[in-house]
Amino acid sequence: MTSAPQNETRRGLIVAIDGPAGAGKSTVAAHLARTFGLLNLETGAMYRALALKALRNKIPVTDGEAVLALTTNTTITLEPGAGGNRVLLDGEDVTAILRNPEVTQAASQVSVHGPVRVWMVNAQRTLGLGAATGVVMEGRDIGTVVFPDADVKIFLDASVEARGDRRFAQQPAAESKENLLNEMRDRDRRDRERTESPLRPAEDAIVLDTTGMTLDQVLERAAAIVANVPRR
Ligand code: C5P
Repeated sequence: MTSAPQNETRRGLIVAIDGPAGAGKSTVAAHLARTFGLLNLETGAMYRALALKALRNKIPVTDGEAVLALTTNTTITLEPGAGGNRVLLDGEDVTAILRNPEVTQAASQVSVHGPVRVWMVNAQRTLGLGAATGVVMEGRDIGTVVFPDADVKIFLDASVEARGDRRFAQQPAAESKENLLNEMRDRDRRDRERTESPLRPAEDAIVLDTTGMTLDQVLERAAAIVANVPRR
């Protein structure tokens, strides 16, 4: 399944933000959501929540069928709030544990399975189309698969060193910078090389290489891009 339903009435602006880990997607998405009054949906959190459930149930994340079976009795809810989204897994607030290194790697592995992605994409389309205020949706395949007809698509990129530096600044106590860089390279490779919806910019995406940019410059540029989108 590669295209969004075309016959549904879209009720708000759809902004797609894609890019590799550490490119600043979450910060940009939160800024755009605040500036333009959009719902902010982080799709990575959904892959992380499902991965957490697999780990808890001792289901090997490499087993696509077993992970898919898990989705039949799984509910993942994103609750937007002032300080970011709260993520509920079957009603339990798991926000605080989703960024653990173990969950991070497992999410990357869970996301290679095609049928699992179909389940995620359907849920994400429903969430996006249900947002009357419009939505900024962030992930790896939003512009290419989830909303190929999004009003605007931004692909955020940066050198792996710059992305590693930013991530390390966010979580200095978590692990060594070397480990963080390796973990990030690993996830990037898996995202870019997987058969199902590999990470790549959509043909009509605006690619923003933020390597030499300050955060303020990135936020300003992204906001200018969205401000220029004709409203329906
Ligand atoms: O964005 P975040 O780092 O939270 O995503 C966790 C993992 O989920 C990523 O490493 C990626 O493999 C996967 N992902 C995906 N498609 C998305 C969002 C996340 O494959 N739309």
